[in-house]
Amino acid sequence: MADLSVELTAPNGRKYTQPTGLFINNEWVKSSDGKTITSISPTDETEIATVEAASAADIDAAVSAARIAFKDPSWRDLAPTDRGNLMIALSDLIGKHAETLATIETWDNGKIYADSLGGDVAEVQAVFKYYGGYADKIHGQTIDTGPAKFAYTIREPVGVCGQIIPWNYPLAMAAWKLGPALACGNTIVIKAAEQTPLSILYLANLIKEAGFPSGVVNIVNGYGRVAGAAIATHLGIDKVAFTGSTGTGKEIMKMAAINMKNITLETGGKSPLLVFDDADLEQAVKWAHIGIMSNQGQICTATSRILVQESTYDKFIDAFKKQVQEVSVVGDPFAESTFQGPQVTKTQHERVLGFVKSGKDEGATLISGGEVFTKGPTEGKGYFIHPTVFAGVKPNMKIYREEVFGPFVVIASFKTEEEALEMANDTIYGLGSAVFTKDITRAHRVAKRIEAGMVWINSSNDSDYRIPFGGVKQSGIGRELGEAGLAGYTQIKAVHVNLGSVL
Ligand code: NAD
Repeated sequence: MADLSVELTAPNGRKYTQPTGLFINNEWVKSSDGKTITSISPTDETEIATVEAASAADIDAAVSAARIAFKDPSWRDLAPTDRGNLMIALSDLIGKHAETLATIETWDNGKIYADSLGGDVAEVQAVFKYYGGYADKIHGQTIDTGPAKFAYTIREPVGVCGQIIPWNYPLAMAAWKLGPALACGNTIVIKAAEQTPLSILYLANLIKEAGFPSGVVNIVNGYGRVAGAAIATHLGIDKVAFTGSTGTGKEIMKMAAINMKNITLETGGKSPLLVFDDADLEQAVKWAHIGIMSNQGQICTATSRILVQESTYDKFIDAFKKQVQEVSVVGDPFAESTFQGPQVTKTQHERVLGFVKSGKDEGATLISGGEVFTKGPTEGKGYFIHPTVFAGVKPNMKIYREEVFGPFVVIASFKTEEEALEMANDTIYGLGSAVFTKDITRAHRVAKRIEAGMVWINSSNDSDYRIPFGGVKQSGIGRELGEAGLAGYTQIKAVHVNLGSVL
């Protein structure tokens, strides 16, 4: 439909056609109630494009399309190898369109272009290929229960899956959820975050071009409390997978209870990074910086609490401050020299500044940043902020306990390994954790006792599509990525076979 796309030229000069509709049943349609979302560039605060926002009725239409597709022989009876081949074709198309996808992501979200292209889009391409390879390797078991009987299991798709994703990695979060769901033969209604609605719509065209049957993947934008809630409560949806804040995750759990949906949740974090006095200090400083300042600090696994052993604390602070000042170049996300772009929205920008005020009010020592970035690149416009470091932070402070989701880190000290573990685990969250030490025994001892879904030894924030990703405590339920990521998208049917006669 001609009026459901718009010709755009991005700030890097790239011209492309931006879809703006709701992608339901492989067609572009308008919202039934006329509601829209306007995407704002966080770099210069200009409007990029206005897209359709789904109503509850539009979610109904998307769920119906997904339900019909789930039962349609074109998908249900497609050989798993052919299903995998569709995903590999999609992966190839993503590779062909990588620069456009990365351009949209940087324009809409503010993340630096090098990361969008070499990180996010490259990962999205890899995830579809990886899970495409799994499509024909999802097997049940045969279980021998004695001479007269045996049983076998079938790993079936769950059905129609509702997926709700956040704004910090729009394309990557979509791939993490679509990849395993498609490999297992499910059909999907996915909703992007209202802050970053654009890149997933471009992906929708590639899904159609790859040859997926109508209704297998339905992609909508929409507001959380309208479209998101409609997905979480919909009786026609069998599973809901969510990534976002812990508060919203709890609401989704309650809503999903209406028909006891299968759920997967990836929520917040306040991940600790422990530096022991025997650590390679230079490496610890570099990784600690990457672990919190990458992606504008908007990473759920960001190592946002740095805990340093007392004897090395002052040296660490000096070196970390220097690293932040030298490496965290703030500026235009399309510029090669930039390390840190703008925060995603005005709301997030204000939220981070609120934490700066809180840190000062509570008496922590501000050693870097804490101000709005005013010098450019867009003459005072844009949601830029200086990378912020607070030292001398105490565990009772709000900045120590709450997730900030910005280029904002707190540093505290500990005396012993026991105290380090107590401090690390003193949180409602349990997503990532990092430990720096040259003592191999201590590294594994700490890794075992730390309450987190992921541990990085002498590193921070490694994420790989082949490795399970997820949290414990209030950081989530279930795992994404790796073979483990398939578990949430199949259910096991047990078939009992009687070979003998009743005695
Ligand atoms: P959010 O929870 O408000 O939004 C995330 C998604 O949920 C969006 O698509 C939104 O539209 C939708 N949503 C919001 N309210 C809803 C409702 N009532 N019902 C259904 N859907 C609803 O999160 P945010 O504030 O936009 O994102 C930042 C947060 O996300 C951070 O706290 C961060 O920790 C978390 N996050 C976690 C991970 C992870 O993997 N654990 C990844 C990225 C972000």
